[in-house]
Amino acid sequence: MEVITSAKVMQEQALAWKKAGKIIGFAPTMGFLHDGHMSLYARATKENDVVVGSIFVNPIQFGPTEDFADYPRDLAKDKDLCESQGVDCLFIPEVSEMYPQDFDSYVNVQGLDKYLCGACRPGHFRGVATVVLKLFNICQPDRAYFGQKDIQQLTILQKMVKDLNLPVEICRVPILREKDGLAISSRNVYLSSDEREQAPGIYAALCVAQTLIDNGEREAAKIIEQAVAVINGKVSLGVIDYLEIVGAKTLCPLKILQGDVIMAVAVKLPHARLIDNICIKCK
Ligand code: AMP
Repeated sequence: MEVITSAKVMQEQALAWKKAGKIIGFAPTMGFLHDGHMSLYARATKENDVVVGSIFVNPIQFGPTEDFADYPRDLAKDKDLCESQGVDCLFIPEVSEMYPQDFDSYVNVQGLDKYLCGACRPGHFRGVATVVLKLFNICQPDRAYFGQKDIQQLTILQKMVKDLNLPVEICRVPILREKDGLAISSRNVYLSSDEREQAPGIYAALCVAQTLIDNGEREAAKIIEQAVAVINGKVSLGVIDYLEIVGAKTLCPLKILQGDVIMAVAVKLPHARLIDNICIKCK
């Protein structure tokens, strides 16, 4: 597996693959890789000729009080995992390589960032869209793989690709979970043992909601009320940032469930803020 740190070298390599007729699959990450990330690469290696990964903790998507400096890092392990998963090339730029001092251009996907995480993390999705567009230009993917775990990110990037006519297919990969239901995340290592014990209550709440919906309930307020009760009961150390049912395309909160909807939740525990969601097709 090749490791590249220069954007120019990475772009030249990607363009050479394209010229040779290779189909490039790509999955960007912030590193500290786990099985969830590996599920992106497993799929990418099945569907493409060449797979490029990236590891970059993107400073411009972190707020001033967020965990940029403390974000967990383990490059040696990340490289081993990628190699064993069949990743052909790993792009690991320095911050100065991505954002030189005279950097001035940002991508705003307006509207979709008003809701869910966008409401509590101002500027976060502007940072995400900007870095992903840069990574697309550098790595030249035909297909790019993103986890449903970050459903708002995925929805915003799909809109960016459509609005800006980018020649990239965005592929959605389901959420990989621990045996007890907790969505796997690099930030789970921050949790104390008490927090870790309670954290599966978040997914349990989504499952209760799913059952209500399967049984015909369509009134968002009723579903949310029951899900909030589950979280308050099972995750007493946590505070709910949001728990909403939104339209899958608009991310706008719904009163009555109809069509493709997302139930999304963010819970602040003392040592980590956890997010999770389920996607539901309502008839
Ligand atoms: P991150 O390193 O947290 O920025 O995540 C990089 C990519 O991995 C994003 O597309 C995430 O949605 C995806 N991802 C993270 N956790 C999971 C998971 N548990 N299951 C599936 N994909 C995930």
